Amino acid sequence: MNTSAASQAAGIELVALTKQYAAGSVAVDGIHLRIASGSYCCLLGPSGCGKSTTLRMIAGHESTTSGDILMENRNITDLPAAERGTAMMFQSFALFPHLSALDNVAFSLKMKGMAREARHRQAQDLLERVAMGHLAQRKPGELSGGQQQRVALARALITQPRVLLLDEPLSALDPFLRIQMRAELRRWQKELGLTFIHVTHSQEEAMALADTMVVMNQGRIEQIGSPHEVYNRPATEFVARFMGGHNVLQTTQGKVAVRNDHIHVAPLDSGANGWPATVNDVEYQGTYVLLGLHLSEGGGESISVMLPESRFTERPYAPGDRVSLSWAAWQAHSFAG
Ligand code: ADP
Repeated sequence: MNTSAASQAAGIELVALTKQYAAGSVAVDGIHLRIASGSYCCLLGPSGCGKSTTLRMIAGHESTTSGDILMENRNITDLPAAERGTAMMFQSFALFPHLSALDNVAFSLKMKGMAREARHRQAQDLLERVAMGHLAQRKPGELSGGQQQRVALARALITQPRVLLLDEPLSALDPFLRIQMRAELRRWQKELGLTFIHVTHSQEEAMALADTMVVMNQGRIEQIGSPHEVYNRPATEFVARFMGGHNVLQTTQGKVAVRNDHIHVAPLDSGANGWPATVNDVEYQGTYVLLGLHLSEGGGESISVMLPESRFTERPYAPGDRVSLSWAAWQAHSFAG
């Protein structure tokens, strides 16, 4: 794990955190996690792996079965949601359509019984902070997706949280907006200096956003690390396959992962020393051409190779071509376990 992150104050620490909804099914299985204060953490994994349950337990929207949740060294496991110093931002932002941006942001203060003028003043201040002050009277339907996200952010920030919890906030947006919005989220997180914990099932989104990625599988943590560490040194076969872009192969060194852009392709008749394989399909992807192949020996495993377009143009391949695959020994990453 990143030592600089470990020595920093923990924004959130999970200690043997467990959730069992019903006898026999463990949704979150004794996880340990330290999230540095002021960092962007993404919980990543396939559907059903326990990400949202973990987030909801941190928020106080779900009880724990056992284990502890600490915020800045304070045990918050049994505190009500409103007293934890966390705030939640939901999928598609979940704004009230009939309320103005100002009233959406002021809503939780109204619930606390704060007078109209005082709560509007605070809400207006926060809207100014996210560059939305001039649109305070608009309803969500009169705002762009990006503007709605800023209102949702201001609404979450009105309780002055130390930690913002984001549950798939971008998953219902169209792909173009999603990329814009994630750049904004990242910018706001750095500017506000808060701890963000963001649940996503998208590897690409987690890699774009996170300081620390936590890859989960079946209620457990498979790997914690920076996007670079997780992508270049997947700790387990599960992580290599889930992150994509890797081939998992059985070699004389044991089971290894090789990135699909680290595999060299040569015609079989060139005398190159490597693994014989046959091209199945060729997919043009712009900067790269993706080759789908299967090995001629062993179990005939499927292999994918990304060739830079220029390399492919120099020496194109077509389905049925017999080739030889090779890679530098140091680019074959063996798993720790
Ligand atoms: P993820 O967010 O990674 O998709 P969840 O945390 O929602 O996963 O779910 C983890 C596991 O817990 C799943 O098997 C899911 O079916 C189960 N689960 C989630 N919520 C409940 C619930 N309220 N009651 C019973 N089982 C639940």
